[in-house]
Amino acid sequence: MTTVASVGYLIAFSLFIVGLMGLTGPRTAVRGNAIAAAGMAVAIVSTLLLPGMGDWWLIVLGLVLGAVVGVPAARRVKMTAMPQMVALFNGVGGGAVALIAWVEFRDTAGFAAEPLHVAVASLFAAIIGSVSFWGSMIAFGKLQEWLATRPVTLGAIHRPLTVLAVAAALAYAITVMAGATSEWLVIGVLVSSAFFGVLMVLPIGGADMPVVISLLNAATGLSAAAMGLALDNTALIVAGMLVGASGSILTNLMAKAMNRSLVSILAGGFGGAAVATGGGTDDRPVRSTSASDAAIQLAYANRVAVVPGYGMAVAQAQHAVREMADLLEGKGVTVSYAVHPVAGRMPGHMNVLLAEADVAYESLKDMAESNSLFPQTDVTLVIGANDVVNPAARTDPASPIYGMPILDVAASRSVIVLKRSMGTGFAGIDNELFADPRTSMLFGDAKNSVSEVVEELKNL
Ligand code: NAP
Repeated sequence: MTTVASVGYLIAFSLFIVGLMGLTGPRTAVRGNAIAAAGMAVAIVSTLLLPGMGDWWLIVLGLVLGAVVGVPAARRVKMTAMPQMVALFNGVGGGAVALIAWVEFRDTAGFAAEPLHVAVASLFAAIIGSVSFWGSMIAFGKLQEWLATRPVTLGAIHRPLTVLAVAAALAYAITVMAGATSEWLVIGVLVSSAFFGVLMVLPIGGADMPVVISLLNAATGLSAAAMGLALDNTALIVAGMLVGASGSILTNLMAKAMNRSLVSILAGGFGGAAVATGGGTDDRPVRSTSASDAAIQLAYANRVAVVPGYGMAVAQAQHAVREMADLLEGKGVTVSYAVHPVAGRMPGHMNVLLAEADVAYESLKDMAESNSLFPQTDVTLVIGANDVVNPAARTDPASPIYGMPILDVAASRSVIVLKRSMGTGFAGIDNELFADPRTSMLFGDAKNSVSEVVEELKNL
């Protein structure tokens, strides 16, 4: 490698690490992203400076195509569609690694004169990259609802077929490592791994999909690092390991927040079982309230907790919520936000929306702190949240969300739930909280309801 490229890579790694550190808080996240993107630009330029680069038209075509598709897609994507966007981009990364492994096989005439570690790392990258690409495509299809979000299996033959796909991928790879040079073998590796990726993700329910995407993201990182080892490219090794390590930590945190083990997620279940029982057929009497009554209750409270959920994101109510909190604080009310780690549809979803509305980060309380504050809270305002406040997760062992830690809003003196109907949330199950004597329902679109409360507060 040339000195210029080595120095370029060193600068790129430093920028990746500084960028990642910026992602630890919403205030610094945008800058962190920009720094990491600058690091990637430096890494690309440094790579293009490596000796032996050719096919410039092809390289320019690739860069232009990537930018033309990627930039508008990233700009236009709705916040609620972010998980499928991540799945798509991550999958493309895995696919690229798998194709590079194939090209390396061709360039070296089947790794004939290469040391064994090149063949091992390339074939590892081919397997994991292909699994990641096809698994991510299925995850994308499910989240976009182009495919059924419930777990899909091929019945009794599903498991044997999955085992067969893994065994075939390994057998083809071992044959190549043993010295066979037929290109069909590496194609066999890619195709069997593709089957494994599809068969692995199909039985996983929609609610578990973000954890799966995070896992596939970690896998893409590892495959890129392996490819870096084979190509002796430090940029790929470092960037791949950063993605692999951070993706693994995120996967673990998300699984913990949903109280699910990774094994049980991969074995399938949650999302599907939940959706299957869904329907929102709960016909117990509930108490409705009006914006003016809610405003009076809020204005005379000492402490108010806001629990944001997916419905707040759909309604884009965050700015109105912030305005309401400002008015309440002006009246001497203490307002905090109780943020559940899996509220919304992606990790940090609520934090991002609230930061966008300039809500002070110090007002955001995590689950443990929020739960300790509810007994001293006069009014808890649940805005478009459902599963994350569902007591069934604590009380009903038969519930598909049983065991998931929840925000214990029922511990506060009164609860007002803002949603449009008695409809269910992501898990598709009824919520006893709505029929609790301390709960009243303010039906309507969250943004409209909060805006009405704001108008009432202004008149108080
Ligand atoms: P949720 O359980 O999905 O409930 C959202 C509620 O918002 C619905 O019951 C809906 O009721 C209401 N809603 C929708 N549009 C609305 C609008 N315009 N105005 C007012 N309300 C509206 O949401 P959550 O409590 O945030 O829980 C998140 C769920 O998603 C969990 O099951 C979690 O495991 C899962 N999940 C999380 C992630 C993640 O990473 N955060 C990713 C994927 C899945 P109406 O239809 O009656 O209005």
